[in-house]
Amino acid sequence: MNEVENNIKNYSKYLEFLQGKLNKFFDAQSPYIACKKGCALCCKNAQFPYSEVEFNYLVQGSFALPSDIQKKIDENIQKVLKEKELFKGENFKYDCPFLIDDGCSLYLYRGIVCRAFGLIEANDEGNAKIPFCHEKGLNYSQVVDEEKMLISEEKYLALSEVKQPLAYNVGYKFLTSEKIEKEFEFKFGEKKPLIEWFY
Ligand code: SF4
Ligand code: SF4
Repeated sequence: MNEVENNIKNYSKYLEFLQGKLNKFFDAQSPYIACKKGCALCCKNAQFPYSEVEFNYLVQGSFALPSDIQKKIDENIQKVLKEKELFKGENFKYDCPFLIDDGCSLYLYRGIVCRAFGLIEANDEGNAKIPFCHEKGLNYSQVVDEEKMLISEEKYLALSEVKQPLAYNVGYKFLTSEKIEKEFEFKFGEKKPLIEWFY
């Protein structure tokens, strides 16, 4: 096994560990989570940070896809690259090229940001980042104070829910830190928006 393969192997062990944790977090927050197959708002109009190892793992998964899906993905990539070329401002956002008919064509191989999105994220400043889809009546919408952009204790208590809305340390920076690299013996490598890996 060469170095790249070994790196991907250890990364996949980390993914298994991380997914176990995330499943528990999502379960604990289930009254507030509206994620379901076919909901793909979070796969659109974003940047999707991906590290080198995440991207290599994704590509590895794509080899097993049927040729018509691979063709569609290639077309999507070309379309986004063209849009990017024509884009004049900063922070180019796009629909993920792996999204086909509002489903992830590489679900088992998706990156870290795709797995963690949907929970309330505790950030470095001690604030909580609520997933944007609450605005669409989705995750945490029933307990968000839209004016203050905070979880409303009043709304939460009125629901008489046993499960408290909680924020988790699931930011991309934390989930892809050096500490993780040391513990699981692999390197994330360079990090950049997903589309930039296709240059
Ligand atoms: S995080 Fe929000 S937008 Fe994404 S799948 Fe879940 S409910 Fe839909
Ligand atoms: S890789 Fe899959 S889950 Fe992640 S943004 Fe793309 S379509 Fe969505």
